[in-house]
Amino acid sequence: MSAYDFDRTEVVIIGSGFGALAAAKKLAKAGTDFVLISETTEHLFQPLLYQVATGVLSAAEIAPPVRAILAGHPGADVRLGRAVDVDPEAGVLTYQASGRTRRIGYDRLIVATGARQAYFGRDEFAEHTFALKTVEDAEALRRQILGCFEYAHTTDDPQRRKELLTFLVIGAGPTGVELAGQIMELAQRYFAQSVAGLSAADVTVRLIEGADEALPAFGGRLSDYTRRSLERGGVQVDLGSFVTEIGDGVATVTDACTGAAEQLRAQTVIWSAGVQANDFAEVLAARTGCPTDRAGRLKVNPDLTVGARADVFAIGDMIAIDGVPGQSPAAMQGGRHVARTILRRQPQGTAFRYRDKGSMAIINRGRAIARIGRIELTGLIGWMSWLVVHLAYMVGFRNRMIAVVSWVGSFLGHKRPHFHLAMSEPAVPAATELGQVDPQTPPTDPAPPAADDAACRVA
Ligand SMILES: Cc1cc2nc3c(=O)[nH]c(=O)nc-3n(C[C@H](O)[C@H](O)[C@H](O)COP(=O)(O)OP(=O)(O)OC[C@H]3O[C@@H](n4cnc5c(N)ncnc54)[C@H](O)[C@@H]3O)c2cc1C
Repeated sequence: MSAYDFDRTEVVIIGSGFGALAAAKKLAKAGTDFVLISETTEHLFQPLLYQVATGVLSAAEIAPPVRAILAGHPGADVRLGRAVDVDPEAGVLTYQASGRTRRIGYDRLIVATGARQAYFGRDEFAEHTFALKTVEDAEALRRQILGCFEYAHTTDDPQRRKELLTFLVIGAGPTGVELAGQIMELAQRYFAQSVAGLSAADVTVRLIEGADEALPAFGGRLSDYTRRSLERGGVQVDLGSFVTEIGDGVATVTDACTGAAEQLRAQTVIWSAGVQANDFAEVLAARTGCPTDRAGRLKVNPDLTVGARADVFAIGDMIAIDGVPGQSPAAMQGGRHVARTILRRQPQGTAFRYRDKGSMAIINRGRAIARIGRIELTGLIGWMSWLVVHLAYMVGFRNRMIAVVSWVGSFLGHKRPHFHLAMSEPAVPAATELGQVDPQTPPTDPAPPAADDAACRVA
């Protein structure tokens, strides 16, 4: 039996995202012992995932190791593992690490396992669509985008070329809007400059949204500005439309008013239409009796405790509290609130109060929107604010410097330093054979593949 099969600590934190890291940093500074268990030991800055997918930044620049962030705090123990069960009565968490099931006792448990894509009962859509939730998703999408342009360049079949150069983005939340805007910009500012015989007019990007507005969480003038900006940039925005079927290289889009259905052929379909709590939320709900909403998010108590447990807290995207958005500031504020309670810097039971610092979304180069209190920003000022705010939230001086240099190259020039593809690269799961072509065999044109979410972003 190893020392890790069953050990004990003061606080166990699950996850390494915004919520978990905020709590961990506060506990570390106070010298409290804790074990942080996460499926990935990187801290992923999800708001910049789209820049990894479109070749502006590398994954390493937006996903520094949590170990490095917490280095120098001897009480912090970071473990690569997956939480699978919890016994709240006994105060014991079960997790899997290095191929074994292990248990750890705790005095307090902080759960911050986040969210994943929701397919609204059509989980099979995941097989035919791309997502943007993890580093792997972003890298797969980058390979797909690049592969489509590469194959379109050399195929002799005009219909095939058209399908390769058609991109469908489903869901006009922040993720869908930024991806649609960026892919069109890539076509205009990168591929049209570097692929012989290609012009941006050969590329179709369609953004499909069930609501009557783009970025419906903003609404009114800002949503209207978003739609107009996308359309001016060459994106076709289909509002009041639902995707009712998705197969290999084909999606059926149905008009909400008329019921008219259209079949669209595209090698790349990106799903960004919704999120739901990650699996561990269901386990925690079952073990504590905590109710959940339709997206599986825990309806926690005002002080962020779960069910009747004063020693178990949940934070971030996995919880539902009225007026608190599924955004990184809410997760970070939740993490700090829980840490303050554990450190007895506020009375047990103190209600969490979310401070709304504003919401932002990027559209394309030079255009973003922001709402900060009553102030609404659009255009270049909105875009600059978005870049500055997101730069400030990035972890690590070096990463910030690299981001600035990459942004100058990509946004002022035409550079995409992370666009490269080898025929021997591993395949994208499920759909395309892009990177999977055996170097010995002549390649066939790729089939399509896979997708993502949406949340609202904030300053
Ligand atoms: C593409 C994209 C763009 C976004 N843009 C913005 C933006 O511009 N502004 C903004 O404010 N918000 C944005 N968001 C939302 C923001 O990223 C989330 O609100 C935030 O990440 C939530 O933090 P969290 O700690 O709850 O979860 P996450 O950051 O998702 O972290 C969850 C962690 O839990 C781990 N985990 C999951 N299950 C287990 C398990 N069983 N065992 C162990 N570990 C587990 C995961 O590995 C991960 O480390 C965006 C999200 C996406 C996907």
